[in-house]
Amino acid sequence: MKNLQIELDQHRAQHLYRRRRISEGPQQPEMVIDGRAVLNFCSNDYLGLANHEKVKQAFIAGVKKYGAGSGAAHLVNGHCRAHHALEEELAEFTGYPRALLFSTGYMANLGLAQALVGKGDSVLEDRLNHASLIDGGLLSGARFTRYAHNDVNQLEQKLAGARGEALVLSDGVFSMDGDLANLAAIAPLCRKHQAWLMVDDAHGFGVLGEHGKGCLEHFQLSQNEVPIYMATLGKALGTSGAFIAGSDALIETLIQKARPYIYTTATPPAIAEATRASLQVIQAQPEMRAQLNDNIAYFKRCAEHIAITLGDSQTAIQPIIIGEAERAVAISERLLEQGLLVTAIRPPTVPKGTARLRVTLSATHTRTQIEQLIEALSATVQVD
Ligand SMILES: *Cc1c(COP(=O)(O)O)cnc(C)c1O
Repeated sequence: MKNLQIELDQHRAQHLYRRRRISEGPQQPEMVIDGRAVLNFCSNDYLGLANHEKVKQAFIAGVKKYGAGSGAAHLVNGHCRAHHALEEELAEFTGYPRALLFSTGYMANLGLAQALVGKGDSVLEDRLNHASLIDGGLLSGARFTRYAHNDVNQLEQKLAGARGEALVLSDGVFSMDGDLANLAAIAPLCRKHQAWLMVDDAHGFGVLGEHGKGCLEHFQLSQNEVPIYMATLGKALGTSGAFIAGSDALIETLIQKARPYIYTTATPPAIAEATRASLQVIQAQPEMRAQLNDNIAYFKRCAEHIAITLGDSQTAIQPIIIGEAERAVAISERLLEQGLLVTAIRPPTVPKGTARLRVTLSATHTRTQIEQLIEALSATVQVD
């Protein structure tokens, strides 16, 4: 048996040790975390729906109607009217024939690859894909390759050499950099090579595009061009879970074959009711999205003003590349001393030497709060 403590100590010495902070209340810009009042710039709750009155009321009403838990897997008797209605509404909203709920985005990504491809097939992934896509590809047993970030030429070479069924997996919005997949080029390439394409739109669904439908709407791509669409419900939608949308045959295949779908308890139906309310708010209140975009533009303008270099991102995820993990952690800690919660992202989440501060913005941030962040960044990142 290896000595776990020695390994942990080494991990700590490399400034890679992670620990959890304890939050006392709902997700919102002003939070109390580890007993300290902080301004939160690290949440994925881009529209403030996690603590939205209508969403909370729908959750409570869902508990009253369905109770606390689903009691069983979807294929036993845990598939409730609420889950089913949400699936139909997600299909309608995204423009696909059908949608299937998963308990988490991680599980959706594990299930999809394993249901579609196996030994003798090929999985091709962007090097900066989310860990769940990487793990899903590896678990499938198909030949696994990665192409350089958004490198369409390299993807084409790899597609030309791919064996069996080919499945291309990409984040829509890259979760650590906030930039977008080059879907305008990737989608036609996949069609040309008759490869499946799945886009994981965890950070685009609800916020990108004129109606918040995500990266397809942003790029004006049709559902035929992206045959498999996946998004999570715990980010802009403010609740929990995920879904995959696609053809009827795809969804039936997942129901029959995706083990993370079959062998798990359905999420509480009340969560589906809350998510249905989120989806309604997203459609009824486009001004939330406008406010988010306003905040993103304001933050970028202010950052430019104090000469802080940001990544190439138009989204709510705004990375400030620092370099060494130790320095990123030190800056993040100094920001916290000033009451600002901005996470340092370190290897292995991002490549070595690109540790960063990852600022995320929400429609619920005020201009004053963004200015507070800018002031603190100016005092810490530049002086350091
Ligand atoms: C958050 C995230 C996931 C995982 O979704 P969960 O519902 O949190 O498990 C998957 N893919 C991407 C790109 C994500 O950002």
